[in-house]
Amino acid sequence: MKLRDSIQYVKGVGPKKKAELNRMGIRTVYDLLTWFPRTYEDQSVLTRIAELKPGERATVSGVIMNVSERQAGRRGMTILTALIGDGSAFLQVTWFNQKYLKKQLQTGRRVFVTGKAEYAYGGRGQFAMSQLSGFQILDDEDTPEEMCGILPVYPATERLNQKFFRKTMAGLLQEELELPEVIPADIRTRYQLQGRREALQKIHFPADFAELKAARNRLAFEELYLIQCGLLILKRQSREKKKGIRHLLSSELVHRLEAGLPFQLTNDQSKVWREICRDMESPVPMRRLVQGDVGSGKTVIAMLALVKTVENGYQGALMAPTEILASQHHEGFKAQLEPLGVRVGFLSGRLTKKKREEMYAAIAAHEVDIVIGTHALIQEGVRFAKLGLVVTDEQHRFGIAQRAELEKKGELMPDVLVMTATPIPRTMTLTVYGDLDVSLIQELPPGRQPIRTFVRQPDRRELIYRYVLTQLEAGRQAYVVCPLIEMNEDSPLPSAEEIYDELRYGIFRDVPVGLVHGKMKAAEKEQVMQDFYEDKIKLLVSTTVIEVGVNVPNASIMVIENAERFGLAQLHQLRGRIGRGPYQSFCILVSEMKTENAKERLQIMAETTDGFKLAEEDLRLRGPGQFFGAMQHGLPDLKIADVLQDMDILLLARRAALETMENQADVRDILPILALQYQQQFLNITET
Ligand code: ADP
Ligand code: MG
Repeated sequence: MKLRDSIQYVKGVGPKKKAELNRMGIRTVYDLLTWFPRTYEDQSVLTRIAELKPGERATVSGVIMNVSERQAGRRGMTILTALIGDGSAFLQVTWFNQKYLKKQLQTGRRVFVTGKAEYAYGGRGQFAMSQLSGFQILDDEDTPEEMCGILPVYPATERLNQKFFRKTMAGLLQEELELPEVIPADIRTRYQLQGRREALQKIHFPADFAELKAARNRLAFEELYLIQCGLLILKRQSREKKKGIRHLLSSELVHRLEAGLPFQLTNDQSKVWREICRDMESPVPMRRLVQGDVGSGKTVIAMLALVKTVENGYQGALMAPTEILASQHHEGFKAQLEPLGVRVGFLSGRLTKKKREEMYAAIAAHEVDIVIGTHALIQEGVRFAKLGLVVTDEQHRFGIAQRAELEKKGELMPDVLVMTATPIPRTMTLTVYGDLDVSLIQELPPGRQPIRTFVRQPDRRELIYRYVLTQLEAGRQAYVVCPLIEMNEDSPLPSAEEIYDELRYGIFRDVPVGLVHGKMKAAEKEQVMQDFYEDKIKLLVSTTVIEVGVNVPNASIMVIENAERFGLAQLHQLRGRIGRGPYQSFCILVSEMKTENAKERLQIMAETTDGFKLAEEDLRLRGPGQFFGAMQHGLPDLKIADVLQDMDILLLARRAALETMENQADVRDILPILALQYQQQFLNITET
């Protein structure tokens, strides 16, 4: 059997099971084999019922003596209780609300249970078991001994239960499996990694915890190593495959732009600008990431780089993640650049077909120098006459694949600049941006007053909003952010719509109040944003749609309702919408703080405005799953490695991948593996 084969050839998988497995995303033998246990159940010892100790977890095996069912509570919860005997004593096992088990719990059948033993209520010393972590009904041919050991616990469903996965996996591992090694032999020796077959065998069925650890280590290494190889090959190929553009030293146009700026670049901005110039002036295509906190002034850097490419006779593209942001950039760029004779175009999916086609034609004919737009920029039909530089703003919304798509648009390999305000912990830049060089803007432009942040209970809302009103009366504008859009019966939280009504008919009845949320039509949304931008709306109630990039320097106060609902990184992005002008800004986090975690997170928000520190805390408090989920970086999901806990493995894997890049034969061997396992992410490199 081959790894690519459909799971239908696996023993025990009929058409029904196949459909069910497909629904879980398991299609091939490889998918099944890498359906790793979520945890393990230590059932290496079978305890006799008479020897159970109260309060301890244990595994027992016995025969069902009788089963009773009763209803409890107003809602009529079903409680099933089976009495189990093993010759030494009896044990009550209880299930709540699992009516479907009743059919299976037949007197005389043998079962195998793991759970916590306690004295049964009113049971005169008899034991009861609850909090079951393992339960199986044994078939005639099963022996309890063979069920013992460290058992894998899989992500399972009602129909595809633990028993199914355990049996199928054990069967599969006994098959003649074609299981090619994916880590080159020299790397395996140097990093003391066991073979792939052994590791896959032991990750599912370890004899003890030491074996498990070694197997997990090998597989996590494999995963991180392959991804690092993919990223490094990507980086090398975009450098080698096509020639890049050698931009000339900056001259008149760039200098005129610099001279016309209303401010001086900060030291960090100047440093990053020099790094970009060096990249652009080299014939190697630039692949650079600029990481700078919200408000650190990345836009002007993008503008300088784009003008540099224009000065060299090329076209530039700036891609923004939202319509609003793209059109704001467009406005800003036009104002600054048209006086210099630079032609700035705009492209978005929302243009009429006619307008869009006109823009396509203008781009193809080199009648525009810089095009600013949304995803529409990477659609078919967009052909640049002479693309020199691509800038993507807020890159976390664009995956590697999209980045590559845009790169394919020119004859020569255009330079690529990626800007992100998502501060990710330094240690993690590697996994996410392994194919890019990184520049940092750490300092904020001068004259900014740090935002003051407060955490307050909801019973203070009246006072808070009265304070907001005084700010509006002083000429400022304000945001109110809510986690939900509309009324929702399942949620006790007030929605944006409710709060909007409460405020505009209440304390702010004499003030123009606006509402913007993600479910509004794009045109409506933009109108509201535009009105806020033009100071026609003073108080803007919104959901997180304002999160990215909107720039209204006059807005100096933000109230975030139910702030515990947001992650730290998100709160930080939201807060970045204020404090953009010369005014002292205030952010008020309203929350009941029912949990310690919520309290801790909001307190950190109040204490620091350092995006990196917040990102690290966020990662620590929420775990990498959610953290990375929110980033939409386009990297493959990790099946076994954990970017937080496996940092040491990651660093080794990175080193090993760098070593592999030195060895042509190894690189050649890795390519088809990447094609098989990470098709989506590394499609472009493996095509060739
Ligand atoms: P972000 O990095 O979040 O994209 P922006 O580029 O939007 O930040 O810049 C935020 C604000 O700071 C803008 O109003 C911009 O004009 C201003 N700004 C940028 N650089 C400087 C600087 N060196 N000195 C003063 N103001 C600056
Ligand atoms: Mg920006």
